[in-house]
Amino acid sequence: MQRRDFIKKAGAVSLAVGAGLAGAGVAHAKPRYKWKMVTTWPKNFPGLGTAANKLAALIGEMSGGRIRVKVYGAKELVPAFEIFDAVSRGTAEMGHGAAYYWKGKNEAAQLFSTVPFGLTAQEMNAWMYHGGGLKLWTELYDRFGLVPAPAGNTGVQMGGWFNKEINSLADLKGLKMRIPGLGGEVLKRLGGTPVNLPGGELFTSLKSGAIDATEWVGPYNDLAFGLYKAAKYYYYPGFHEPGTTLEALINKKALHGLPKDLQSIVLTACQAVNQDLLAEYTARNPIALETLLEKHKVDMRIYPDDVLKQLRKLSGEVVAELADKDAFAKKVYDSYSKFYRRAKRWSDISELAYLQARDKA
Ligand code: CA
Repeated sequence: MQRRDFIKKAGAVSLAVGAGLAGAGVAHAKPRYKWKMVTTWPKNFPGLGTAANKLAALIGEMSGGRIRVKVYGAKELVPAFEIFDAVSRGTAEMGHGAAYYWKGKNEAAQLFSTVPFGLTAQEMNAWMYHGGGLKLWTELYDRFGLVPAPAGNTGVQMGGWFNKEINSLADLKGLKMRIPGLGGEVLKRLGGTPVNLPGGELFTSLKSGAIDATEWVGPYNDLAFGLYKAAKYYYYPGFHEPGTTLEALINKKALHGLPKDLQSIVLTACQAVNQDLLAEYTARNPIALETLLEKHKVDMRIYPDDVLKQLRKLSGEVVAELADKDAFAKKVYDSYSKFYRRAKRWSDISELAYLQARDKA
């Protein structure tokens, strides 16, 4: 009876194995789980898609094959921007994406991915794991029957690809640019038109003129999409995405239906991939940058100082307005901004001071 309940709990796809031998075999039978992971990325896309693959493989290996996770690229099972709902309703047990895609669910979701002129990757991980960030994120996604976990970070991104020079804020006026999250909101305040498109549609949209400009991630990913073939100028820094946390979405019922050891394996695998992807970007971005500059002769530019200064002021206003959206958004904003002030003070005399010292040496 006990065993039957066990199997029932594990769902239709799981099978108890090792039950062939009477007695002993039954006692050691462990249920197996087949999960689906839907993603917002093109299948196998360098860094983003491969991190999802790595996460699935890691869960399989760490669990000794007790959980098998099959990964689906955008549109394979559901479109990119429908993965949140798909995992929420249990069409898939897991998803891999970024929280700023879900601002329609709650504006505060954006704070769990990245904020213009906000926390860096290192600071973001600190807020998530040791500063209350993940706790708030969990509270928000619980409303949707989901459990979130940081599962990758891009580090500082690039500003984006433009077909005209950006010499003043006026050059951003009237610009139709693919730029998600709060960065998009900043562009809107400047008279631009932010659009959100899945990565897989960027090259064609830019090439055809459906959009005037786009940001994506950084050299490693931008090279993979061939964006240098569709735009003249490559601007930096990505003020709008200083350390974007990618997310694993996990269906809460599916996660809590697992034995405790497997729940821990799923969440620990997310944390491992969260760290690993940042290392991968840090290693591969400089190599791809070399290719873009030396082989493809890309015209790389830095945003002018006064443009950055004004963007920073405007970003502060846009982010602060989140606190007025609803009580929960205020709670997340308060936690984020309090952490930001403290983290910045420390980063200024550690990372920043060191980088400046290294530069002068
Ligand atoms: Ca981006």
